Amino acid sequence: MKLRFGLQAKFLAMMAVAMLVVLALIVLLLNRQERMQREVVGVSREAMSGMIADNLKRHSEGMVSQLAESLANPLYYFDLDAVGVLSRATLRNPGISYVLVYDTDGNIVHDGSEEIPSYGKRMDDPMAFEVIAARKLHTQSSDVVMDVSAPIMIGNERLGGVRVGYDLKTVHQFQDQALGNLRGRLDALAQQHMIWIGLLAAGLLALGALMVYLIQRFLVQPIRQLADASMEIEAGHFDTSTPASNRHDEVGDLMRAFGRMSQSLARHDRDIRRMAYTDALTGLANRLAFRETLDQRLLQLRGAGRQLGLLFADIDDFKRVNDTLGHDAGDDVLLQFANRIQETVTRLGGEDALLARFGGDEFVILVQDGDGHEGGVRARASHLADVLVAELGQPIVVHDRQVFLGTSIGVTLFPEDASGATSLMKNGDIAMYQAKVAGKNCYRFYSRAMDQAVERRVHLEHELRGAWDRGELSLVYQPVYRLGDGAMVGAEALLRWRHPEQGLVAPSVFIDVAEQSGLIETLGPQVLRAACQDAVRWQHARPGAEPLFVSVNVSPRQLRTGDLPNVVAACLHETGLAAQRLHLELTETAVIGDEIHASSMLARLRSTGVKVWLDDFGTGFSGLSHLRRVPVDGVKIDRSFIADVLRDPDDLALTTAIIAMAHSLGITVVAEGVEKEGQYAVLRERGCDLAQGYWLGHPVGAEEFLTLLG
Ligand code: C2E
Ligand code: MG
Ligand code: MG
Repeated sequence: MKLRFGLQAKFLAMMAVAMLVVLALIVLLLNRQERMQREVVGVSREAMSGMIADNLKRHSEGMVSQLAESLANPLYYFDLDAVGVLSRATLRNPGISYVLVYDTDGNIVHDGSEEIPSYGKRMDDPMAFEVIAARKLHTQSSDVVMDVSAPIMIGNERLGGVRVGYDLKTVHQFQDQALGNLRGRLDALAQQHMIWIGLLAAGLLALGALMVYLIQRFLVQPIRQLADASMEIEAGHFDTSTPASNRHDEVGDLMRAFGRMSQSLARHDRDIRRMAYTDALTGLANRLAFRETLDQRLLQLRGAGRQLGLLFADIDDFKRVNDTLGHDAGDDVLLQFANRIQETVTRLGGEDALLARFGGDEFVILVQDGDGHEGGVRARASHLADVLVAELGQPIVVHDRQVFLGTSIGVTLFPEDASGATSLMKNGDIAMYQAKVAGKNCYRFYSRAMDQAVERRVHLEHELRGAWDRGELSLVYQPVYRLGDGAMVGAEALLRWRHPEQGLVAPSVFIDVAEQSGLIETLGPQVLRAACQDAVRWQHARPGAEPLFVSVNVSPRQLRTGDLPNVVAACLHETGLAAQRLHLELTETAVIGDEIHASSMLARLRSTGVKVWLDDFGTGFSGLSHLRRVPVDGVKIDRSFIADVLRDPDDLALTTAIIAMAHSLGITVVAEGVEKEGQYAVLRERGCDLAQGYWLGHPVGAEEFLTLLG
């Protein structure tokens, strides 16, 4: 509970003030009662003493007058005995302290005693003077006694007088007793009052306590709960259980509204979280979610000496799917891939496995050791990668079309390869890239050597830049033969790079570098010009003979820039080569990627007389029907089909179908990679037009090719 002047404290303070006021009122009341009681007693005392004094006076005066009359005769005759009898009789009455009979001079005649010791003495007490002087009934009082005297007369003659002292002490005693009684009664009454007031106060106190309790229970407590809950929510804990209430009043309404509000907040929070952490297409975790989980796991595992593996899977040539079949098909492929990966990961990845899509065609899988998997995380990761490569290599059906796609996977391990998330992810990327370089559709574990490979690639790009000017790049020519009569009809120009230190660099490596760095846009035209120049020289070397064509590979990027027709025209113009002697080899992807643009471009090229061939035909998805829509002069059947043409009846069937289809469209068919006589024979038998391959002739340098012609 917090130390602050909260609602409850305020109510308590208010109740305390109210109680204090009531208490003060009670004290005031008691005080008043006390004073009233005192007043009552005082007034009573006055009234009583007045009344008693009056009464006593009247009674005693009557008695003393009567006594005086009775004493008249005895005193006249000076019968002391009779005077004594009367005096004593009077003296015996209660409350009488003395009876004195005296003569006119004030000398005592009798005092009611037997011996009368005071006989003849003159009265000299303080009241005596008035008594002696009085000629009629006279009463005077002191504190202790009331003195009533009356003259004793015979006729008009005064014989003396009698005075009787009434003891006031007994009267006072009596009075005090009566007042005591009165006070007792009043006290009893006051006590009763006290009890009532006490009961009232107790009742009020109980009422106050009850009110405090009720306020606490029905107002303060729920409000405090709400305040606590809202503070929790403010701190970001949306899952805190909000206080429930089934009360049918305003507080109940408030609490229910609050509950609904916090639920909707929690829901929104969940939605936002889900949106921020999941990939919209596949519903898998996204890069952000993966990164957070990875950081968290690394933190947990670091001290525990446990291992973790990351698999970076990238679909091979996925761009081709998007380019050739459209983005809907691309999404479909990604979904199917995601499902396959998910299934495999669920089956083999272990409990802690996590799958995420990093955008594009990149999937990342996190696996951990444990769950009793033998051989640690390396074995588990390589098994998973193995199965994934096989599973994802299975054909996929998209838009009623079978598509073959491979996947390259890079694997990196914690803590072997790196200890931080960022380096792990970079390693995974490098390993994946190496899997691509190694021929795709396979997996590679990260190794430090790969870093060097990446560095080499950057280096390579740098060196390739000036290679043409330094004379490191050259063209080789591979002859192309007509199957019908076995005559050489042309040659394909292939680029070679002789690196000063590394020697020959494979075209698959440097062409890729040139392609990705954009270098191909300057290299391409240089190759084209050189090839045209060489082709013109061939013509001079064989005057009169059938002119040979030169076939030049053109990268998709060159086609995309849009100024290929101008470059081609310029080359032909500069070198003087006849347009129909130049063949351009374009890959399927280059043509199909942007069909409309490509078609118009091809049409422009062909209108100048240049021939266009589709290279590596059969490896894309365009299919045979595609040939109708793209204006080309020939197709080069990919060497992967030719390689198996003797062993695999399917490949033979496909090759035969391509030849038939192409011929029906009036298109020339070239077979690549003829390495055996048997292949040559089969192709000739099936009616293939042209062929090239090691069995017919290896690519050779320009000078050597010239001697070949001679
Ligand atoms: P491509 O256009 O399909 O070229 C044919 C490739 O097959 C050449 O490889 C050639 O040496 C090889 N080859 C020829 N006969 C046989 C055979 O009987 N068996 C086997 N196994 N291979 C054979 P190369 O020279 O390594 O070129 C590879 C690829 O590099 C070419 O494939 C082409 O796409 C690209 N390329 C080469 N030169 C250039 C160029 O100047 N510009 C562009 N854009 N691409 C080029
Ligand atoms: Mg080619
Ligand atoms: Mg080819």
